[in-house]
Amino acid sequence: MKIYVVKQAGFCFGVKRAIKLACDAAEIKHRRVYTLGPLIHNPQVVEDLENKGVHVIKDIRGIKTGALIIRSHGVHPKILKQLKGKPVEVVDATCPFVRKAQRKAKLLYDQGYQVVVVGEADHPEVQGIVGYVNDSAMVINHTRMKSKMDRFKKLGVVAQTTLSIDVFKQAIGRLVENTEELKVCNTICHATARAQKATSRLAGKVDMMIVVGGHNSANTSRLAKLCKEYGTPTHQVETEKGLQRLWFKNINSVGVTAGTSTPDWLIKQVVERIKSYN
Ligand code: SF4
Repeated sequence: MKIYVVKQAGFCFGVKRAIKLACDAAEIKHRRVYTLGPLIHNPQVVEDLENKGVHVIKDIRGIKTGALIIRSHGVHPKILKQLKGKPVEVVDATCPFVRKAQRKAKLLYDQGYQVVVVGEADHPEVQGIVGYVNDSAMVINHTRMKSKMDRFKKLGVVAQTTLSIDVFKQAIGRLVENTEELKVCNTICHATARAQKATSRLAGKVDMMIVVGGHNSANTSRLAKLCKEYGTPTHQVETEKGLQRLWFKNINSVGVTAGTSTPDWLIKQVVERIKSYN
């Protein structure tokens, strides 16, 4: 059985940066370090960070002192306001690509456009972007695209950074029917776009795809969806323990890809386990 691994699979620049900032912050002795929600959508990495002193909290009301890491997804600006006046250091690990989406949305809002974010409304990155336009943005996803939409004079569109380009194109096609003027800012991040392209290419060549990453990771699930759309049998696993030997029966070639929140060591462990089935 041949095993191919997508070169672009695994940690992206934004995730690497967030983890480094969190680890650096945790190195200062006698200081509590927190993240509002898991730093990245990968339970194994979150556990490792917890051991290093980076604690996940659900609500900033629980923090009295210490440091709060703003995740690569960014946050709603109201969170930053609530922290003002508290003796809490804010370490901003918002990914520059997410920051760009926030800035573009704000610019469109200031120019009088009804802002539309194409993405998942309950994703923290989208909630943050919406916050930068005074919560006035309309969020559309697959389901909303199919339902009836109001007509607007001016629509300004940004994308959740991990959105697939095909879904973005579909959304733009749908939105253009409902407005006189449409301004589109392509805020899909390069890392995601490259990983998706390489994954689709590989999925078209192999008998089966294995996608490694947290089940709570939107971009990992999107990669799995892309592979399935190619008609390639696909399994998503968090670690090598999720693999089942019988999946590999009569398989001559397998492709491995991973979300941007999956560390290299996890990808290697999965590849090693697959090799052992040979
Ligand atoms: S996937 Fe892109 S936008 Fe998200 S953290 Fe990584 S580099 Fe930044």
